[in-house]
Amino acid sequence: MKSFESLGLSGQLVESIRQLGFETPTPIQEKAIPTLLEGTTDLVGLAQTGTGKTAAFGLPLLELVEENNRATQALVIAPTRELSVQITNDLERFSAAYKKLNIVTVYGGASIREQIIKVKRGAQIIVATPGRLIDLLSRKVVDLASVRYVVLDEADEMLNMGFKEDIDEILSTTPDTKKVWLFSATMPREVREIASNYMHNPEELSVGERNRGNENIDHQYILVDDRDKYLALKRFVDNTPDIFGVIFCRTKIDTQKVAEHLIKDGYNADALHGDLSQQQRDRVMKSFRNKTLQLLVATDVAARGIDVENVTHVIHLNMPDEMEFYTHRSGRTARAGKKGISLAIISKKEIGRVQQIERSLKRKFTKVMVPTGDEVCQNKLLALVHKVKQVEVNEEEIDSFLPEVYHELRDLSKEDIIKRFASIEFNRFLEYYRDARDLNKGERKNFEMPDGDDRYLTGDRVFINVGKMDGLEKGSLLDLLCDFGEVDKKAIGKIDLKGAYSFFEIEKKFTEQVLKNFDGVEVRGRKVRLELTQPHVKKYSEKKKERFYSAKGKHSDYGRKTKGRPSR
Ligand code: AMP
Repeated sequence: MKSFESLGLSGQLVESIRQLGFETPTPIQEKAIPTLLEGTTDLVGLAQTGTGKTAAFGLPLLELVEENNRATQALVIAPTRELSVQITNDLERFSAAYKKLNIVTVYGGASIREQIIKVKRGAQIIVATPGRLIDLLSRKVVDLASVRYVVLDEADEMLNMGFKEDIDEILSTTPDTKKVWLFSATMPREVREIASNYMHNPEELSVGERNRGNENIDHQYILVDDRDKYLALKRFVDNTPDIFGVIFCRTKIDTQKVAEHLIKDGYNADALHGDLSQQQRDRVMKSFRNKTLQLLVATDVAARGIDVENVTHVIHLNMPDEMEFYTHRSGRTARAGKKGISLAIISKKEIGRVQQIERSLKRKFTKVMVPTGDEVCQNKLLALVHKVKQVEVNEEEIDSFLPEVYHELRDLSKEDIIKRFASIEFNRFLEYYRDARDLNKGERKNFEMPDGDDRYLTGDRVFINVGKMDGLEKGSLLDLLCDFGEVDKKAIGKIDLKGAYSFFEIEKKFTEQVLKNFDGVEVRGRKVRLELTQPHVKKYSEKKKERFYSAKGKHSDYGRKTKGRPSR
């Protein structure tokens, strides 16, 4: 493995980065630094975030920019404010003990006046987002006439975000003699076009296979119904207490909604999207960075370039349409050599997207199951017991309080005391998960439909206290349901006709209406009762119901005579 010295960097700069813990160059640094230090070639670097690409272009840039020349000599353009600030911070850290340089960041959403003052003081390196730079150029605050190096970082992202025209305009304002160093995680046609329009025989480098992504990311998916995605998310989080993650939604509205629901449900979550003010976004990012915030719910655009260490999970609440978006989303985890999980919570219609991404990444996704309510409770309980075992007891201080405690608990056995202590924290989970359904689609776990029918539920399953004994057949029960429930036959799924009771499946959006419409309906003087069932409950309650109903008398001639139908 090569050293930073052998790549041609000056001793002072090498020492400076060594202080930051950079001992050996990463592959992209090894490849790019010697070429870029010559300052004579254009470069196209295919590299993901997290590969050390900022130092790969940043270190040569710091060597090449002249300390005593006040003119703007280098321009770094990045898609987001986050990334621009990060690049500036990195450049400042690398150069702090080496050169006195004025590095200025300019980006939208913040006071332009302050940025103007800073640029006017003399910015030898400007790190900018495209829109704000165009603004400053039109105000003639920024002068690019002396620029010798232009870095386009995350070029594919900038194009995805619609900055193509801005980039063209910026590049056309810079001298023809400048060198362009372009970095991109992917190489779509539009990025190639920039290379061919603005570069001359660029050197091409790539780390890892094209689009292959970070090897340290474990790609997983769970398959659920669309309507169960949020429940599956909560279950997954409940079962992963140490999660520190970014949850991606497609739209700002979804992002806000999911974050609000999570907060309401007692999770440590917050939203990050473009409708928030810059101050709000700063606040959210600050708390995520210092880990007081556990779950960041974000849009693709808002979360681009986020470099927060030790993100354990990236969760996709829906699959992005673009491969590039998936790469950028999942790249928020497994940074700087760490491992991470990218978990897609998908419905059946998104399986195709997962397969496309698998082909593109040349990596397989692992199917994982949503934990059942029992599994979550079991894990929570074990975590609690583990905590009890690990807790440090302050023998001296607690001693004087104990006699009264012992006295209070004198009538309880050891088992009772354990149960009660565990229940203090555990009851909330038990309560929540008591009747929890299995959310997995596909192979089922711990879930059997009665009489062995294990086809998938497409809607709700409802119990009704009439059946064969009431003289009903499937057809007549269907008529009854449609007449009184006021639904079309298509809304009713499988009917499971039993002796004194039955079950039927119904499209979820009609469940409430049917339950309500049956209120007060009687069949041959017997009040008809409907009850929404949960698969989990069924196993226990059904036997009871069976015993109860089989004890009742047989009703032979079912008539459609009813009374008490609720008036509308
Ligand atoms: P980047 O791809 O530039 O976003 O870098 C990812 C992370 O790796 C950042 O936190 C860098 O500080 C860190 N890093 C970059 N190069 C090295 C290196 N040679 N040795 C150790 N850490 C590095």
